[in-house]
Formats: sequence, structure tokens, C-alpha cells
Amino acid sequence: MKVLLVLLGMISVANGAGLNAPDNFELKNRTAVFVDVTDIKTIIKYNISTSEVSAQSTVSFVQSVEGSPIFDLTPETTKVLIDSKETTLSKASLPGNVSTVRVLGLILKPGKHQLYVENKISKNVRFLSSGVKSAFWMSDLSDRRYLEQYLPANLEYDQYKVDFEVEIIGSPSEHQILANGEVKKLAKNHFSISFPDYYTASSFYYHLMPENSFNEESFNFKSVDGRDIPVTVYSSSRLASYIKRTKSVLAELEADYGPFPHNKVVIYGAGSGGMEHCGATITSLSALGHELTHSYFARGIMPARGNAGWVDEAIASWRDGGYREYQTRSLSNSQMAGHSIYRRTTDRNAYSKGARFMGYLHGKFSSAGGLKPFLKKFKDERLFKPFLTKNFQDDLEAHFGAELSTEFDRYIYGNSKSQVSTESIENPNHPKLSEQELLNLL
Ligand SMILES: [Zn+2]
Repeated sequence: MKVLLVLLGMISVANGAGLNAPDNFELKNRTAVFVDVTDIKTIIKYNISTSEVSAQSTVSFVQSVEGSPIFDLTPETTKVLIDSKETTLSKASLPGNVSTVRVLGLILKPGKHQLYVENKISKNVRFLSSGVKSAFWMSDLSDRRYLEQYLPANLEYDQYKVDFEVEIIGSPSEHQILANGEVKKLAKNHFSISFPDYYTASSFYYHLMPENSFNEESFNFKSVDGRDIPVTVYSSSRLASYIKRTKSVLAELEADYGPFPHNKVVIYGAGSGGMEHCGATITSLSALGHELTHSYFARGIMPARGNAGWVDEAIASWRDGGYREYQTRSLSNSQMAGHSIYRRTTDRNAYSKGARFMGYLHGKFSSAGGLKPFLKKFKDERLFKPFLTKNFQDDLEAHFGAELSTEFDRYIYGNSKSQVSTESIENPNHPKLSEQELLNLL
């Protein structure tokens, strides 16, 4: 036992921040270190008279080895303090130039630290005569498109408690916020939002608007576990079909995979888009089932990095296609989980090749009940714990008592000698929207 503890200790030092962070790496004269963020408190102020949005964030974190901590934030910073001392957060390339992060300008000793960051938010914000609209739209198909587009955040492997205080200054009209956290109105145009401590950078849903900007209806969904889960559906078009589809998909998913994993549901029937969040989605009617499936697979079980992102898209797409069985001849080689450990986006082959791989496993193990009972168990055992593809493979092998390394090497890791085709085109459930199209959805 003692030996095991020592070994575990060594592993956590080696990768810097729990088991699922990528490896720390060397910069010119220091080590860039992945850290464990414990909580972030952010004050967001919308100033109507200057049309500016400012964010002041206090990030508490634990660092396990000496070096410069890694975070991310795409807007420029206007002030950075570490443990009350002024410094910088400079851009740095991840090894192999697969993505960009921000690295602190100072070298820190291991231990607890506090980072303070000020930045402006300009993305997906629109000031109107009636106030302001703002949303934290995200994407898992383009790089650096999670919380870091708006606020300092960590990479997807990390989970932390986030609290917002939101104030709209100088607006005569009342505003409201739809979010997948606990929203409290403190005063007119002054809110707090408390998000669960298991959220990662890709979990958050946040949409601020003047009151009555959309049609909106709330009701309770009776879960199989007895809970009355509050559901809010809103849209600029009619709500009836979104409400009907939401109820039927929730019932379908609970029958297959057990109680809905989140304590509320927020559906924005935007007519286009398609992005999943924890218990929330911006979606078209046709993508609604796909996006709600992601509340179990993607935002219930959570990919720890880009190489694990294929699992949830493969499951959701396999469901969309009616849970078909596939034979080996329908499979194609891919390296969906064979990219750099630093990659942060999902390989688009997941929708097609990944979905067929799930259907192949379903057929291969049909006499043992097929894949769905395994997926339910995988979700139950790993709920809200960021996972790697290796965990998925190990759990599959343990559940079915079968060796799957040949299949994973060939169809998932791209380790076979035969050629791997490039990433396929986009999926209709997750179309790539232009900046203008995203603004129009506010
Ligand atoms: Zn999807």
C-alpha cells in the first residue's frame, strides 16, 4: 500500500495537476506547469453608457511543482496579479504548436496561490437601446472556444467552482439571465450565479438579455428518480414543438441511461447552432435530441482533452442513427484519439467513423446485452469525472471480458500501418457558425 501511495504521488507530480492533465513542458528558461484550479470568483460589469464589459476574476489554484502556471484567456488582460504581485499572462504555444495557452510571467513555488485578472469581454455582446445582450457561446470543434473566450479558465481536464456576480449599470430596463447554475436576483440588474464545482471550461451556459426578449415557458419534468427537474424552454419562434421534443427525448434518455444527470434543463431553441452544455443547449429542433444526449455523454461523462472528445460525439451520432449494428466492413481507420495529448478539439471523424465503431461494438457484444447497458454503467461510474479514451477502452474490456486493443489501435488511435484519411466534414448538429451568425443568436 505504501509503495502504491508513493507511486501515485510520483504520477501526480509528473503531470502537475491530477491524473488527466497533459504533461508539463519546458519554455526557454522555465517549466510551464498545469495546475489545479479550485475556484474562480468573477465580477462582470456591463456599462451601458460606455458600451463596455469588464471582468475581474480571482482564481485560486494549487500548483504541485515549481514553474510558471498555465491558464487560458483569449481576450487581452488589463491587469494581472499573482499573490498580490503584478505580473503578466503571456501567450505560449503548446508543444507541437497544437494550441495556444497563457503562461504566468513569474516562477512559483509549489503550493496554493491566487491569481487576479482583469479583462474586457467583447465577444457575443450587443448593446441595444433597451439594454444589453451577452452570451458565452462555445464550440468543441474550433480551438480555444470554451470559457477562455470570455474569462480566465483552465483547460478541460480541470474542474472548479465558479461564481459570477453580474451587474448591468445604467439601464432603465430589467434584465434576466438564463444559465446552468443557480441564478439569484440580488437587486434590479444585479445577479449572482453559482455554478457546480464539477464544471469544466466546456460546461457553462450563460445568456443575459433584457426581460421578455424571447418566448419562454417553464415546467417540471418528473424524473425516473422522483425529482421534479425544472425545465426552461425559450425561443424567438413558437415553443410548442421544442417543449414536446424535450419531454419525449428526456423520457427516452432516462429509460436508456437512467436519471437525467443535472438538476435543471435550459433549452434555447435558436433554430440553428447546436452546442451542448451541462443540462443546457442552444439548438435547432432537429438537433435537440443529439444535444440532450450530450447532457449524459460529453457533459455528464466529461472528456478530459481533445483526444477523448470523439467518444461522446460517436455515442450521440450512433443514437441519432437509430442505434444500428455495424460489421467490420463498415469501419474505417482513424486516429480520433491518436492526436497530440495537447490537442483541445474533437476530431470530426467521430460523427461517422466513431458512430459506426459504437455500432460495431454493439453487434460484437450483442449476446452480452449490447453496448447501451455498458454506456449506462460507464456514465454511472464516471459521472462528472473527466476521462481519457484509455479509460473508455479499459472499462469496455473489463465489462465484456474481451481484449480490444487491435480494434482501438486501428480504428481509434491510428496505430495501424494503413493510411488514415483526414478529418471529415462538419456534422449538421454542430454546424460551424460565423461570428455574425453567433451574434445574431443573442
Ligand atoms: Zn454532438
